Amino acid sequence: MREFKILSFFAIGLILSSCGNSEESTAKKNRSAQISDSHSYSNFKKINTTHLHLDIEVDFETKTIAGVARHEMNDHHSNVAIFDTKALEIQKVTLGKDNEIGTDFEIGDANEILGRPLKVKIKPDTKYINIYYSTTDKTQALDWLEPALTTGKKHPFMYTQGQAILTRSWIPLQDTPMNRITYSADVKVPSELMAVMSAENPKKKSATGEYHFKMNQRIPAYLIALAVGDLTYTPLSDRCGIYSEPELAAECEYEFVDLPKMIEAAENLYGTYQWDQFDMAILPYSFPFGGMENPRLTFANPTLLAGDRSLVSVVAHELAHSWSGNLVTNATWNDFWLNEGFTVYFENRIMEALYGKEIADIHAFIERQDLSATLEDMENGKHPEDTQLKLHLDARDPDEGLTDIAYVKGAFFLRTLEKKVGRKKFDAFLKQYFKSHAFQTISTESFVEYLRAELLEPNKIEFNVDEWIYQPGIPDNCVKIRSRRLERMSELAQDVNEGEMIFIGSDADLKRDDFITQEWLAFIRGLSDDITPQTMREIDRKLSFSMSANSAIKSEWYQLAIRVGYKDMRPYMKEHLMKVGRRWLIEGIYTELANSKDTSNLKWAKDVFAKAKDNYHFVSRSTVAEILGEK
Ligand SMILES: [Zn+2]
Repeated sequence: MREFKILSFFAIGLILSSCGNSEESTAKKNRSAQISDSHSYSNFKKINTTHLHLDIEVDFETKTIAGVARHEMNDHHSNVAIFDTKALEIQKVTLGKDNEIGTDFEIGDANEILGRPLKVKIKPDTKYINIYYSTTDKTQALDWLEPALTTGKKHPFMYTQGQAILTRSWIPLQDTPMNRITYSADVKVPSELMAVMSAENPKKKSATGEYHFKMNQRIPAYLIALAVGDLTYTPLSDRCGIYSEPELAAECEYEFVDLPKMIEAAENLYGTYQWDQFDMAILPYSFPFGGMENPRLTFANPTLLAGDRSLVSVVAHELAHSWSGNLVTNATWNDFWLNEGFTVYFENRIMEALYGKEIADIHAFIERQDLSATLEDMENGKHPEDTQLKLHLDARDPDEGLTDIAYVKGAFFLRTLEKKVGRKKFDAFLKQYFKSHAFQTISTESFVEYLRAELLEPNKIEFNVDEWIYQPGIPDNCVKIRSRRLERMSELAQDVNEGEMIFIGSDADLKRDDFITQEWLAFIRGLSDDITPQTMREIDRKLSFSMSANSAIKSEWYQLAIRVGYKDMRPYMKEHLMKVGRRWLIEGIYTELANSKDTSNLKWAKDVFAKAKDNYHFVSRSTVAEILGEK
């Protein structure tokens, strides 16, 4: 998924350039048998689902999904099957395929993070377990949107967000990445809407509102996804296209035109795309992330539609997940960096292949800046140990591991390694890694063993792997990224800080369109908190940051405005907070408001949040509530 939680944002200068093959040995198998997933109640090591069939109806009146989850189990010797559930109503459980017979079940106590275990009495020869259930208004995976919150404003919309452990709040199942399953689904929705899933998808609406889905490749539970809305399909090539509301179709076609080239570039790097189709579904603005890599159907936030293709790195990111994450999956949420660090590295390689090294470096530089800010926060925060790549989140919400560490420190580990061994060898290693671990899960320890055996030892390379993975902070040998273009923006910002009115006189023709989003971010970040509201007003008059169509620029600008005490932008900021639910674009703003010395800011934030929170998915709502001390 893209993206991570930003702990807090503060001004930082721009001086940051700091910074076997698959022989399944017995030892390896033994080790994977020892790993357990502390974020699942299920007894998947004794008995596990191999195929799930969903027979469900999506009801917009009651805002519930109800039906049956039919589990086909492996051969086992168990008398009990344990599933994960959270805020679900379990009506009955039966055993058998054609002749269903009721069986006893028990629902354990509720845990705030993990939900409740569902223990089903079975026989050692039980093959099919059918769980009849309904979601409730406490579900955390589902977001139900009134028509007003869509672009078309005529029809409601609903989507799911399963990662990390929210799938259990809309399907009773073994919610661990360690078990991969195939799935199929019969889904009934109102006939004016279309349903799409992380599966083989329809290209047209069905007159009856009935849809049938099949996912023949084995995936972990967090990648099961469903979206229902007024959708239309725009093909971009014979194997990729966009589902969006009809009103956004033309914009999507323009913005994502490079998608077929991205898929080619990714395949050239690390091997054939293994999921047949790569489509994207553009969700409403409430979607809490930039993108979510649901296989065959990436979910994406409409804030990516910047109008200038400047935010498409998120698309490269989700595409890269088709290898890192979806094909080779972190065994537990403590190994999350194996999903995200690899993906950020891979995303940057796709960007480099398509747009050149300069653009790729600009992205990496901005990310490195973010990482420095996060590190400083985390080192002074409650869990400084979370700056290790391998985490220990056992009694905590896995969402807490979703930081720049997994994403950016993970990527810089791989970049540094690449520099040490050389790109050619490193690419060959990665290609083989994806191939030999395809459709498997992997722990950090297994990866380290594989890295030593396949890359470091044969090439006699010494590398501080343990320091990178098991120690906090950033090792000294981290590669340094420079960007001349961003340095220029920093110099411009410095001129403003020193009181020069760069927009008057010779530089007066400085235009918004002359620079890409990331350059403007660097410019804004380079501005000092000591500039005056009057200076910000001047900049706004020239560059219209406050009312920008680009949410990333707006978010950065508003944060600076709060620190400076520039209040002209308030109406625009309110509009942004009311409309956008993407966590990355609102979290920093709320944090600045909450931390501001001007206490009226916190009150203002609380008022806006009270009105806006119904427009946010649970994920963003709960983060903001915590920032504002309402949790
Ligand atoms: Zn990701």
